[in-house]
Amino acid sequence: MKTKIIFVTGGVLSSLGKGLSSASIGALMECRGLTVANLKMDPYINVDPGTMSPYQHGEVYVTDDGAETDLDLGHYERFTSQTCTRQSNFTTGKVYESVIRKERRGEYLGRTVQVIPHITNEIKNRILRLATDTTDLLIVEVGGTVGDIESLPFLEAIRQLRFDWGAEHVLYAHVTLVPYLKTADELKTKPTQHSVKELRSIGVQPDILLCRSDRKLPADIKAKIALFCNLPAERVFSAPDIDCIYRLPLVFSEEGLATAICEELNIWTRNPDLRMWEDVVQRFTNPRATARIGIVGKYVHLVESYKSLNEALAHGGLPHQAAVELEFISSDELEKGATDLLDNVDAILVPGGFGERGSLGKILAITHARENKIPFLGICLGMQMAVVEFARNVLGLSDVNSQEFDQTPAHPVIHLMEEQKEVTMKGGTMRLGSYPCRIEENSLAHSIYGSTEINERHRHRYEVNNQYRDRLTAAGLRPTGTSPDGLLCEIVELKDHPWFFGCQFHPEYKSKPNSPHPIFTAFVRAALDAATRKEAADATEGTDGSQARLVGTVLQDPPGGVSVES
Ligand code: GLN
Repeated sequence: MKTKIIFVTGGVLSSLGKGLSSASIGALMECRGLTVANLKMDPYINVDPGTMSPYQHGEVYVTDDGAETDLDLGHYERFTSQTCTRQSNFTTGKVYESVIRKERRGEYLGRTVQVIPHITNEIKNRILRLATDTTDLLIVEVGGTVGDIESLPFLEAIRQLRFDWGAEHVLYAHVTLVPYLKTADELKTKPTQHSVKELRSIGVQPDILLCRSDRKLPADIKAKIALFCNLPAERVFSAPDIDCIYRLPLVFSEEGLATAICEELNIWTRNPDLRMWEDVVQRFTNPRATARIGIVGKYVHLVESYKSLNEALAHGGLPHQAAVELEFISSDELEKGATDLLDNVDAILVPGGFGERGSLGKILAITHARENKIPFLGICLGMQMAVVEFARNVLGLSDVNSQEFDQTPAHPVIHLMEEQKEVTMKGGTMRLGSYPCRIEENSLAHSIYGSTEINERHRHRYEVNNQYRDRLTAAGLRPTGTSPDGLLCEIVELKDHPWFFGCQFHPEYKSKPNSPHPIFTAFVRAALDAATRKEAADATEGTDGSQARLVGTVLQDPPGGVSVES
């Protein structure tokens, strides 16, 4: 079967959930037995999102093959079983870069190089290279909002593709907004009408509308939208606000979206099996316990910067039927002395990051976790900071640092390896993408993974300095995961601590709601256990028996030996 393609565009404004919608369409079609692939086209000029500020653009998502990409690829991988690659995301910058390179090589034989056809052809080629024999359905999300100047070549390219491939192979879905105006007590369709008008003016008539709203659309509103936007009312779908993002495939399915897609594209599939999503949503929405995790970082006020991490933590609660509450703790605030911010959490996590700002606050949080036996997970920079903290406070060395923050400390426990120095000097970048790791038996790492060989994704320049390995190990911070040749330290863990784990890689990129990453499952378990221990301790300390019974279930008998009946 020739690959069928769905293009997902967005109208009215950004952040309507185009990425989640594209991912959910993928999920629904996989539930019908199709093989899907997702692609994100970003109209901005940056060649890739690797150097973009997480303040502006949210998290940089890393693929197995080492591409630094848009965070929507994280949604695609979490909602489907596909493994995205560097071909799953490209930008205007990438497109122009290749066209200009071809022009320099003389490949256009002196002809005038223009947006149409050269840029649009380059876009089409990059789309079609994913329409392989093994892909039944390719879902292409067009970044930006219809009406943006920079989106135009992309919209022109997708217009041409329907012309080239025919309506049975190419479908246009448009995500739009239907706001509810409280003063008028009405759902307003005008923004949608205008957005579709804009699309149609450039030759793209949407086949399907996904209408984002705070509620489900009533039939009369759907009929009105259909009339003005020139499509049948059965092709207008509600995309209401929901309590849990993983409910979206189920909501779309109830609305009949997948059936409509199959009808439009003439796809025959088996009956959908949505049990997996029903189970995920059931677990998410019926928690029996709560783990409170403190995330210490400098981008704490922007949830989008830690998208995969937040999701992975929530996934980690699912096997325990537990909700995970995230407490974002600013490392700057900790540095100013607000360490009481750490009092209310069951576990502490220091995530990845770049740059020195906030590092002292992170170290303070790690000392707190280490000394008070609070479960701790350090990811990438978080693990590096744990090594620095340990060298300073347990090995008692002075002038310890990561070379990222100080090129010449007396003890560069985190440093640039020689080979890496060369790469960096040549303007090269980081250790990116999936690398194998060998795990020592009889370790926390081994009990987490149940395996001695794993593969995880990386995005960093600096490494643990091997000169300090023996001293760290002797004092209790063991490297229990290394590269297969033993040269790179991948995991450290602390002796005589209930749960203290640092990894040089980013496990959050590989967690899915239906298969939570084992590190997060174990970390949330440790947080829940810590909460139970704390409750028990608080209860034992309490003198008032009735109060003690209220806070925990651990007490078998009320204090004082008084039986419950009396
Ligand atoms: N800044 C550190 C490095 O480059 C850690 C990177 C990260 O946390 N992703 O090694």
